[in-house]
Amino acid sequence: MGLPEVLERIAAACQRAGRDPGEVRLVAVTKGRTPEEIREKVLRYGDFPLGESRVQEALKKMEVLRAEWHLIGHLQRNKAKFAPRFALIHSLDSFRLAEALEGVGAKAGKRLRVLVEVNLGREPQKHGVLEEELPELLARVRELEHLEVLGLMTVPPIGPEGVVRPLFRKLSQLADHFGLPERSMGMSDDYVWAVEEGATLVRIGRALFVD
Ligand SMILES: *Cc1c(COP(=O)(O)O)cnc(C)c1O
Repeated sequence: MGLPEVLERIAAACQRAGRDPGEVRLVAVTKGRTPEEIREKVLRYGDFPLGESRVQEALKKMEVLRAEWHLIGHLQRNKAKFAPRFALIHSLDSFRLAEALEGVGAKAGKRLRVLVEVNLGREPQKHGVLEEELPELLARVRELEHLEVLGLMTVPPIGPEGVVRPLFRKLSQLADHFGLPERSMGMSDDYVWAVEEGATLVRIGRALFVD
């Protein structure tokens, strides 16, 4: 495996689904990886956006790697002040966080770009809003001047295709319904299904770093 093979599989999935491969961006998930590994396994192939789960780890790597950084993990409100360092936050999961980000965006004179995380598998240990909470959250967040909601994100349960694929399809349907262009879905084990079901951002870690 490795990044070139992942790109080939994404392209093949696009072809099967009748999609343009240019619609799908690979976000290289670099949590737990050193800057050397990231250069060798990701950046030598191009300027891919890099995704980190934790703010502190991301900030450290920002000092040594020039890249477009995405936050893919839960953001605590007390770390909202670091949000302007990220090109995209995949994990908006409450209105309270949205309000905190609105304040940060206003102060920075910037419109912060976010995706709303939806817990489609309804797993209690996972972040993200439940599907039925989404309409109200979106309506309220869309009132905030310094936040721009570009799409939806989900992390489905680990499971067989019959469980996971319908959740990806659901996320695409929800994004369509709300007129949102971006769907962040698909990780190392399931990104092919996600691309076939309409992912525009796939968040892939492990598959890029194996030898
Ligand atoms: C770690 C992580 C990924 C990447 O997972 P892999 O299985 O390593 O591809 C994607 N999304 C989120 C939210 C993650 O925390």
